[in-house]
Amino acid sequence: MNDPLRTDVAIVGAGPAGLSAALWCDELGLDALVLEAGREPGGQLLWTYNSIENYLGFEAADGREARDRFVDQIRRRGLNIRPESVAASVALRPLRVGLSKGETIEPRAVIIATGVRRNEPDLENLEHFRGRGILESGKRDKDLAIGKTVMVVGGGDAAFENALILAGTADKVFLVHRRETFRARQEFTDAVRDNSKIEIITNSEVARLEGDGGLESVTLTGDGQERGLSVGALIFRIGVRPNSELVQHLVATDSRGYIRIDSSCRTDQEGIYAVGDVANPVSPTISSASGMGATAAKAVFSWL
Ligand code: NDP
Repeated sequence: MNDPLRTDVAIVGAGPAGLSAALWCDELGLDALVLEAGREPGGQLLWTYNSIENYLGFEAADGREARDRFVDQIRRRGLNIRPESVAASVALRPLRVGLSKGETIEPRAVIIATGVRRNEPDLENLEHFRGRGILESGKRDKDLAIGKTVMVVGGGDAAFENALILAGTADKVFLVHRRETFRARQEFTDAVRDNSKIEIITNSEVARLEGDGGLESVTLTGDGQERGLSVGALIFRIGVRPNSELVQHLVATDSRGYIRIDSSCRTDQEGIYAVGDVANPVSPTISSASGMGATAAKAVFSWL
């Protein structure tokens, strides 16, 4: 085995939380290595197609523009972001991060900034209809809804926001939710109820997707009954789940898998910190992620 690569801090994930942690490590004189599984840094910013209007200091047309500003700032400091570096294991005593390509890093502290991923239902032919009716983003794919009946599944802010966006281009939008009441905030629920193109269907779940080639119809189940609807495009917005598998065997998580941290972003395992959405179900925002990155770097600095 090659000698492990040594650094003060290994940061796993290059979304806003990880990038902010890297910036603050640099600010405090700590050597930091940022590991990013994807081909480029940015995390969820890479699939944020809406404009960013609530991050203090600047606005951006979409997530990618915000990402570019963050990354430019990081790179101007000469910081080390390694794309396509998948952290496959974390072990203790000594603290070690193993990469899928075989390399080992021995940092003095690890900051987990792995974010969340979208939930998807367990439907047999979901993959078949991806790109053939299943939309990835209402904002990005709104033109694909022109002249179609669209279904949006979910009852949170994301589902309602997408229903409103798609109603701008689609002939009709069904908003399908598994319960009677919604998590979405009132601003969204009021706007959806006021939109004559949107029909809300509650107490229902998607049972089947059908179509010859492209998506043509969706079968819903609810109250023990099935109902088929002609639908040409569909988007799922049924929440997110934390990417905490890497350290789930080491640190405490809540019942949904979010990493438990204290106010200094420390987990219950000395030397392991967590920042951003993977540890923050309450406020999954760029602002919070950025603040948590700074907090963790400061806490690591004090500890070391
Ligand atoms: P949420 O967790 O808020 O909502 C997820 C929804 O999906 C819930 O209604 C949930 O139902 C439903 N759901 C979960 N699993 C399933 C399943 N297997 N089958 C069917 N339905 C399911 O997630 P969102 O993605 O909407 O939002 C995530 C975060 O992002 C929130 O904090 C939100 O406020 C924020 N956000 C903010 C926006 C804005 O401010 N413009 C826009 C979009 C998101 P149930 O309620 O029954 O659990």
